[in-house]
Amino acid sequence: MSAALERFRMLIGGKPADAASGRTFESQNPYTGEPWAEIPDAGTEDVDAAVAAARAALDGEWGRTTGFTRAALLRRLGDLVGENAERLARLEVNDSGKLYREMIGQLNGLGSWYHYYAGLADKIEGRQIPSPNPNYLVYTRREPVGVVAAITPWNSPLLLMTWKLAPALAAGCTIVVKPSEHAPASTLGFAELIEQAGFPPGVVNVVTGLSREVGAHLAGHPGVDKVAFTGSTATGRAVAHAAAENLNKVTLELGGKSPQIVFPDADLQAAANGLIAGVFAATGQTCMAGSRLIVHESVHDELVRLVAERAATIKLGDPNDPDTEMGPVANAPQYEKVLGYLRTAQDEGATVAYGGAAEDGLGGYFVKPTVLTGVGPASTVVREEVFGPVLSAYTFTDEDEAVKLANDTPYGLAGAVWTKDVHRAHRVAARIRAGSVWINAYRVVAPSVPFGGFGASGLGRENGVAAVDEYLENKSVWVELTGGTRDPFTLG
Ligand code: NAD
Repeated sequence: MSAALERFRMLIGGKPADAASGRTFESQNPYTGEPWAEIPDAGTEDVDAAVAAARAALDGEWGRTTGFTRAALLRRLGDLVGENAERLARLEVNDSGKLYREMIGQLNGLGSWYHYYAGLADKIEGRQIPSPNPNYLVYTRREPVGVVAAITPWNSPLLLMTWKLAPALAAGCTIVVKPSEHAPASTLGFAELIEQAGFPPGVVNVVTGLSREVGAHLAGHPGVDKVAFTGSTATGRAVAHAAAENLNKVTLELGGKSPQIVFPDADLQAAANGLIAGVFAATGQTCMAGSRLIVHESVHDELVRLVAERAATIKLGDPNDPDTEMGPVANAPQYEKVLGYLRTAQDEGATVAYGGAAEDGLGGYFVKPTVLTGVGPASTVVREEVFGPVLSAYTFTDEDEAVKLANDTPYGLAGAVWTKDVHRAHRVAARIRAGSVWINAYRVVAPSVPFGGFGASGLGRENGVAAVDEYLENKSVWVELTGGTRDPFTLG
């Protein structure tokens, strides 16, 4: 069996690496249900080696590069991602069951993140600051924070790694990436491009391991200066604790329970399409899934009918088939979790407008796109992140109630407002407590637009100009101009 598996290696100190123990684990294809790749099963000693390599690179040639050199390297890396989009997309499909149709688009666009941050790498500037004492020239330097630990989830490994890697490299940091044990192959495939792009050894390192201890060891490593994490809120909390022990900076992109508010004047066809995009694309396995439909009571029935009718025509099947619209859930534990939520919802009295169960007979971990009604703000399926293709619909009667319901969640990652009233659109967008709000749209991201969450959805922002700041320290430099001495017993 093992002979047929595609074999991957980690990247430590610029060299392809097996786990020091020689151990490997198998990655499973959620569509075929078969293992397809053999992955190094790192232990803490491999994490130590990767962190040491990242430190050595920072103290060596990389630490002396200018932003201009880093920009050129990032541009080259962006080009290489584009040239290798097809292979990388296939790796993501095999590992996570995501649609090739979506992943090839994502991978073709991924290079633009490296190009965007290449454009910023040579524009990282300090300031000359006026001093109240004219005998001093004061300026600031913006220096890389140091060694970054990047820990990513299984749902979009390369996109979510890139949101960390591109600004970190622009800032001059070095990095150790730890992808999810459920979808590690694409990150290892990506690592093969790092040397080709011309980065010195140790600037980018990738470790993979089956045990969650690998991520925990990296997050709390004393050799790490900053932790950038995407994953569940529960793990994010543990990561924040670990980072706090080392007094490290931390960025967290966590879960969500994002509302889509639909007013009666909305274009209901467009809203239905946005709801499909929000919760059924990627089988609902996106942090920004628009999983709560908060709809005006007067259009509830019509909108639910439109969404349920479209859900019924969603083509489930082989993620590699260009006609497929929804692939399987990405792994066995997630499949069980989604089905568990469907059972709980029905036990709590929800009505299934469409779906509500596994889709047997296709092989793989398929769940029907599901539309639930008869739920309310206290329902488990409304309160907790399902991370699957499940939309929960409930109603409001006026704008204040809509906003109150939308904000009745510990999360605050994203949301949408559907209305043709321009005044109401902006008014409500301002009142939704979330890091991204779309008006008459859903699930659009770009390198230039900050992304991240309020509340339990995270800490800090990725993307946009300011994301580079997350990877920089500020240093103030004071230069004495007179050459004289002063009273040493007073504060200058
Ligand atoms: P997870 O939290 O289980 O795992 C995420 C990563 O953390 C994995 O690489 C895992 O190995 C590692 N890890 C596990 N325990 C750790 C520990 N103690 N210390 C450090 N690292 C540890 O999440 P998942 O199941 O892979 O991904 C799904 C979750 O990610 C969902 O809740 C989803 O909402 C969230 N997510 C958020 C965003 C966002 O941008 N906000 C994007 C995608 C996914």
